[in-house]
Amino acid sequence: MTNKNEDLVLSQKEEEEILDEWFVNLMDVAYPNYERVGCPDPQILRDLAFHRNVSPKILDAVLTHMTECSPCCHDARSYADEYRKTTEK
Ligand SMILES: [Zn+2]
Repeated sequence: MTNKNEDLVLSQKEEEEILDEWFVNLMDVAYPNYERVGCPDPQILRDLAFHRNVSPKILDAVLTHMTECSPCCHDARSYADEYRKTTEK
């Protein structure tokens, strides 16, 4: 069998981006949480993204919540982007 998709081989970064997008879309569909039920204080998400001290108990609760909340995943991602920008030169 010949590989007709040879020129479509993705770089690791492209692959990560596709998986990432797929995951976000999946979360949007599965856990839209429009009313933001049970969402933590945005400051906590920001502290997590900025690697500030968050107690293990809160960390656990937030991570568990995020597995079922698309808006918090979006927020966490934008805070992570923000953090990345502050560390990039
Ligand atoms: Zn949430």
